[in-house]
Amino acid sequence: MNDCLFCKIAAGQIPSKTVYEDEQVYAFYDIDPQAPTHFLVIPKKHVSCLDECTEEDEALLGHMLLTAMKLAAEQGLENGYRIVINTGDDGGQTVKHLHMHVMGKRSMNWPPG
Ligand code: 5GP
Ligand code: ZN
Repeated sequence: MNDCLFCKIAAGQIPSKTVYEDEQVYAFYDIDPQAPTHFLVIPKKHVSCLDECTEEDEALLGHMLLTAMKLAAEQGLENGYRIVINTGDDGGQTVKHLHMHVMGKRSMNWPPG
């Protein structure tokens, strides 16, 4: 998946502002933040979207969610935050590599119209 933007970001081939990294996941600040705190958590392996996940990815998905939760706490989002996974064209997914948005520090209109 040499052409995938987020694979390149996870591999350090395209610069990003790192929030966290371990063997399975990479977290970095969104380039176009929709909230004062807005970062993305992605798997290092290429998974194009949530619908591509199988039971084999159960542990990975759990790890992504727990990582997002821990990072939210570290980022001072003690009053709460939103986690969003846009999936597929109708879900508004623009980058075809699975990612969780973590957004906080502002009350936002939700759900979107
Ligand atoms: P989606 O709409 O696919 O759920 O979200 C993709 C997100 O990736 C958007 O919020 C967009 O701002 C972010 N994004 C796109 N390209 C880059 C990039 O090159 N660097 C970073 N840090 N974020 C990006
Ligand atoms: Zn990828």
